[in-house]
Amino acid sequence: MLIRLILIAAAIYLIYRLFWKKKPKMPFATRSRESGHEEVLVQDPWCKSYVPKGQAISLHHAGETLYFCSPECKERFLAKSESHEQEG
Ligand SMILES: [Zn+2]
Repeated sequence: MLIRLILIAAAIYLIYRLFWKKKPKMPFATRSRESGHEEVLVQDPWCKSYVPKGQAISLHHAGETLYFCSPECKERFLAKSESHEQEG
């Protein structure tokens, strides 16, 4: 009775399909970029020097991200911006 075996196989396949719900596959793996060495230069708004983004000190200020070459520049910029809070 080969037809019966095929029917059973088909039924098992359908049940399998029903229970095996499609998982939303991520187009990108969760693995972090290891070799994505960024060499984007960002300008320090305090001393106007350019620093690689990866080494820059970021600061979220007034809705935008600023990058500084050193913590000192960041501190000085913050100190100045606080004293001129109403500016702009
Ligand atoms: Zn600087």
